Amino acid sequence: MTTILEARDVTKIFGGGMFDKTQTIALERFSFSVDADRPTVTAIVGESGSGKTTIVRLLLGLTSPTEGQVLYQGRDLQQLNRSERKEFLSDVQAIFQDPFEVYNPFYKVDHVLESPIDNFKMAKSKEHRRQLIVDALEAVGLRPDETLGRYPHQLSGGQRQRIMVARALLLRPKVIIADEPVSMVDASLRATILESLLVLKRDFGISLIYITHDLTTAFHISSDIIVLYRGSVTEGGNAGLVVPKPEHPYTRLLVGSIPMADPDLPWLGERVLGTPAGGVAPTGTSFCRFYDRCPHAMQECVEAAPPLFHTSHGRATSCYLYRDAPALPPDGLIQVLSEVDSDQQLSQNGLHLDPSLVRSPSSPS
Ligand code: SF4
Repeated sequence: MTTILEARDVTKIFGGGMFDKTQTIALERFSFSVDADRPTVTAIVGESGSGKTTIVRLLLGLTSPTEGQVLYQGRDLQQLNRSERKEFLSDVQAIFQDPFEVYNPFYKVDHVLESPIDNFKMAKSKEHRRQLIVDALEAVGLRPDETLGRYPHQLSGGQRQRIMVARALLLRPKVIIADEPVSMVDASLRATILESLLVLKRDFGISLIYITHDLTTAFHISSDIIVLYRGSVTEGGNAGLVVPKPEHPYTRLLVGSIPMADPDLPWLGERVLGTPAGGVAPTGTSFCRFYDRCPHAMQECVEAAPPLFHTSHGRATSCYLYRDAPALPPDGLIQVLSEVDSDQQLSQNGLHLDPSLVRSPSSPS
């Protein structure tokens, strides 16, 4: 098994310098890896402030961990030499939330596709470069004659974002990190963009790390899901196990907030959880980050952060309600995510939730 990209027990703390007494733990003891011989689609899900953006920046080498390591092919990302860095930039591509930011409005869109080919000297001639671009556009479902030769403003948001997918594909990377790639496009265009991302895994064996706040799209395209809350992993595992039957109270809240296309099913939102228990307060820096919203919070939860418990094959939950299950080491999530065949989730047809998440106690069963 060859690991391409790995976060090993990574913590990122902002602030707390000589003149700054405040510290923010943006990410705490996060472990995750992508293997070259097992392409996967892993969704990293969480609300604003959960640590998603920090993970993207760490995995791209744009910031360094406070503790732990981010490794590219076993080498510390912060210590790559020039040629290793070039290899990394080819193997790990990113697609960002706002495709318009990437474009220069004075250049035709051809420019953003030609640049990586030229920078990495991939084409033998102008004709070869053109063919590479045409192939990439067609692979993501775009018609070159309707795309090339246009300025960014002449294309829809969906087309611009799919050009970014084509651009990422040009270098035939091993991993693509897609950071909220559909959050700024119309709902009607999201499916086509997500489909073009899935093509990358299915047809080219590229692993995808899908960063999102939207559990619904995460479920539909991912084989694995990692749920974050205030910088900590609350739950992780095969998407087909986690979403239909969430274990952690926060994941239950997220899943319970998914609107269902059935007027007879009331939207429960925060009521899925019940009233916060209250009456407990952290005694140190390590505690369950969800304690102040959790109806089950107990003293134990605020004395030390819960480890990940291996609740069943292919899933793990960081909550003392599952303390009877074996506790995992900090990097245990990596092993858990490899336990279930990554293609299993993609063959599923629909989302069937735990009934307790979509019906209030008074609803007819
Ligand atoms: Fe609630 Fe405690 Fe579990 Fe945290 S560890 S989610 S506070 S029961």
